[in-house]
Amino acid sequence: MAQKTVLIVYAHQSLGSFNAAVRDVAAQELSDQGYRVIVSDLYAMNFKANSTQEDIIGDLKNPKLFQYGEETMHAWKNRRLSEDIMAEQHKVEAAELIIFQFPLYWFSVPAIMKGWMDRVLTQGFAFSMEKMYNHGIFKDKKAMLSFTTGATESMFCPDGINGDINVTLWPLQNGTLHFCGFQVLAPQIFWSPAYCLREARTAMLEGWRGRLKGLLEEKPLTFAPCEFFNLSPKKGFLLLPKVKEAHESNTYGITVGHHLGKPLPPDNQTKAQLSDEYTN
Ligand SMILES: Cc1cc2nc3c(=O)[nH]c(=O)nc-3n(C[C@H](O)[C@H](O)[C@H](O)COP(=O)(O)OP(=O)(O)OC[C@H]3O[C@@H](n4cnc5c(N)ncnc54)[C@H](O)[C@@H]3O)c2cc1C
Repeated sequence: MAQKTVLIVYAHQSLGSFNAAVRDVAAQELSDQGYRVIVSDLYAMNFKANSTQEDIIGDLKNPKLFQYGEETMHAWKNRRLSEDIMAEQHKVEAAELIIFQFPLYWFSVPAIMKGWMDRVLTQGFAFSMEKMYNHGIFKDKKAMLSFTTGATESMFCPDGINGDINVTLWPLQNGTLHFCGFQVLAPQIFWSPAYCLREARTAMLEGWRGRLKGLLEEKPLTFAPCEFFNLSPKKGFLLLPKVKEAHESNTYGITVGHHLGKPLPPDNQTKAQLSDEYTN
């Protein structure tokens, strides 16, 4: 049987950082389990973050009006994307699971990792309007966010000063990862490692090691399937009336994004839903 691959897309500048320790635990544990682990260390690679014409080799389709999405789709079809993008795309193709390891920057990923997403997940390779969400190109692959914060967990509670972490995670987990089809595993959050005791940090690393033992068997997070929507541009990709009706009497919305004006289903973007507990 072919060896399975895990890709760690990693963004931290310092070898001695907590993020580096988290990455090393994952690489070690998954290797011990027999996975081939590939690490894309974005700062070490000096990975280009900005989306420019240099990402396309040869002539542009429309040199008069450069449109990055159109041009990269065309270049991908003709194998004319720059070497660094193609190398990352090959890693994505090989991977069963992608772990994005990073410190939270402005409620999101660091710019260099956002650049990886912008440049590697090109149209055609990672998504199309016909192939998105649960019908997406990477529907047989898994992806997850693993990140550290400056803030404490209570600051990211629904009544904490930063607001609900489930809301923070929606754009990355739904808008990027699940949009490309990935089954999104619950995020691994290391709350405020710089402001806790060394023993607490060691315990966090051990907790991560423990989770990694069964990571690939975990149930993914819940998103609204395409089947809930009218998949016609003319009809605006809106929720089907029968689905809306069926959810009318439910206490909670469907997801963080599809809340239907109801309370958000608790932990929708942080924990896998084990039963129908929040659908009624
Ligand atoms: C531009 C920017 C934007 C930011 N935006 C946000 C934001 O929106 N929200 C938010 O919450 N935070 C934000 N932050 C803070 C940032 O998320 C944290 O600083 C970061 O997550 C901390 O992780 P680190 O790996 O850099 O920690 P480090 O400072 O590298 O590590 C923390 C501690 O762990 C120790 N350590 C390293 N290895 C080990 C080991 N093996 N065992 C035990 N201890 C170890 C280190 O020595 C250090 O004492 C932002 C920071 C920046 C620069």
